[in-house]
Amino acid sequence: MLYTLNTMAFCYRPISRWTKKRRLDSGYNRAVHAMNSAYRDSDDELDATEIFESTYVTASTPQECTDGDSNFSELAELAVDTDGTVQNTDCQPVMQYCSIDRDDSTVNSDCSDNDDNISDISDDNESMVSDLRQWALKNNVSHVAIDDLLSILRRHFPELPKDSRTVMQTCSNVQLQAVAGGHYYHFSLVNGLKTVIDKFQVSDSVINLQLNIDGLPLFKSSPGQFWPILGLVTNSKIKQPFIIGLFYGNTKPASAADYLQQFVDEYSNVQHHGLNHNNNHYTIKLSAVVCDMPARTFVKATKGHTGYHGCDKCVQEGVYTNNRMTFPETDTALRTDESFIAQLDEFHHVGVSPFTCLSFGMINAFPIDYMHAVCLGVMRKLLYLWMKGPLHVRLGGHCTQQISNRLLSLKSSVPCEFARKPRSINEVDRWKATEFRQLLLYTGPVCLHGIIPDVIYKNFMLISCGMYILLSQEHCVELCDQAQTVLTNFCHHFGDLYGKEFLSYNVHSVVHLADESRLHGVLDNVSCFVFENYLGKIKKLLRKPNDPLQQVVKRVSEMCTDAPLTQSKRLQKPHHDGPIPSHLNHFQQFREFHQTGFTVSLDEKNSCVLINGKPAIVRNFLQNDDKWMVVYQFFSDIQCFYTYPFPSDRLGIFSVSSNLQELAVAPTSRITRKCCYFKDGLQHIVVPLLH
Ligand SMILES: [Zn+2]
Repeated sequence: MLYTLNTMAFCYRPISRWTKKRRLDSGYNRAVHAMNSAYRDSDDELDATEIFESTYVTASTPQECTDGDSNFSELAELAVDTDGTVQNTDCQPVMQYCSIDRDDSTVNSDCSDNDDNISDISDDNESMVSDLRQWALKNNVSHVAIDDLLSILRRHFPELPKDSRTVMQTCSNVQLQAVAGGHYYHFSLVNGLKTVIDKFQVSDSVINLQLNIDGLPLFKSSPGQFWPILGLVTNSKIKQPFIIGLFYGNTKPASAADYLQQFVDEYSNVQHHGLNHNNNHYTIKLSAVVCDMPARTFVKATKGHTGYHGCDKCVQEGVYTNNRMTFPETDTALRTDESFIAQLDEFHHVGVSPFTCLSFGMINAFPIDYMHAVCLGVMRKLLYLWMKGPLHVRLGGHCTQQISNRLLSLKSSVPCEFARKPRSINEVDRWKATEFRQLLLYTGPVCLHGIIPDVIYKNFMLISCGMYILLSQEHCVELCDQAQTVLTNFCHHFGDLYGKEFLSYNVHSVVHLADESRLHGVLDNVSCFVFENYLGKIKKLLRKPNDPLQQVVKRVSEMCTDAPLTQSKRLQKPHHDGPIPSHLNHFQQFREFHQTGFTVSLDEKNSCVLINGKPAIVRNFLQNDDKWMVVYQFFSDIQCFYTYPFPSDRLGIFSVSSNLQELAVAPTSRITRKCCYFKDGLQHIVVPLLH
């Protein structure tokens, strides 16, 4: 593909600056087009715990105005949307800036082997270099390939740099520190915050910072592992983690205090003095540290979940049953920030956490992460019990096959927001967190119904409904008490049904989740999903087994200059196929509508929405100037899909008829939610997506 570049005819007689620019633009555009074509399919196998539904988009809130008459139904109004675009979030991680690099293989390398000087590059070529950099970042192109490409391009554009490291602005002088039994690089909290402020529009003067700390095994054949410290500004317009520090060693850091020292010092400084940037003063508030249980116990210096005093939320003493630590109580006194600092439960602590010096809620600000506790914990355990557990709860092979068949039959109904389609439960060992989440919230109530014994189904529905509430922006406040009740009932029934010895920390922890929601809102606000996705990206930055820490530092430095967010239209894919009401036939028609967090289109699996709280199928989108309309049909008959533990209509979940009412038209702003529309035999079920 790249050889087509050689056919571009350029002669080098004296030419005007503008002619030169036109040629550069034209030739370069063709080159980039060719490169993009070549690499289009090279990437994007989503990582282990990729985000379950596509989020992180922003959009203006549509405003309405009223209009009159319609041949359709009573909702005929015209909408005024003031902004026709949304930001495309397909962008690189937020990183910090480092200086220009000369050597990709050694630490503290010098610059003598490279005579590129980026300051010598003209404005035209600088723009070209910038575009090349974005292209290489987007497609994860190796330095060897970039060097190769530069050698070709320089035949036509001699001003271009010779060295890929100049193009990529690779960091030099990677200063690693020997810390806690491994090596550590501190990217800096302040630099990360400034980048987020510049790029993602933080309008508040208070910056809410969230932290994630976790271990990341790198290789199957060696114990090498990263321990990144990641940050996330939760009140920026778009939420993307950034890296604050990175530890590499053959085990986890030997000392949490040493590992976290530089972060603690830096945060302590901004906590007291704030952050000045672009003539604005910001107050920095660390609102939560989101980790899985082992990482929490490590940084909090407490007993682990296999210890008698291992629950980090309540003071109950565990019961050791059949070689397992269990936590059967659901109403023991809760730990508090004050009791933790005073170490009132001396058996809970194994030392003093480095976070204690930060005037920080050591209980409330360390929420339980539902991705690990529920998706990878309880849901995985349930499937294990059903397939390999005690005989009185084990489902037969025929039963598990039926469940798998139903899951597979829903593949074609799963909306585009899901990164993964349902697959057989026989492959459960390879399931990712997002697949357990999908079963828990969406496909499980449909696929398990009528197949597994009623008592097991009801127990599953307790956790499914409780979690659905706590993950729903709409219901998590109003129905929080109800969620607490059903999740507590789940724990009791679980012990009775499967055996007390299975009441592990993960199962017990669901009784504390309603409290987490009261403190932090929907549980996705304090989940590891967004961080795990980012950890997967860090792992993908490694191109060879040697010097993993240096490699990541350099790759991260290259990403600091990634492209600004691009914008895409909210209405896309114009067509002329209707249906369209006669009084609106001067409107333009579209197949796709992009809204915050979801995309609705005319194909069946992406066409189900809630309009004014009622499920409907979208038939068309219309636009005239700033008026945006949706043509839709309500279902003729809707009923509760389930009644236990409470009627499903409270959550907007319905069993619907296949018959539809007459066409109607409304402003697109009336679309409140997108829904999964599952067809299970003759039964059709609508489940609103959580975002
Ligand atoms: Zn507890």
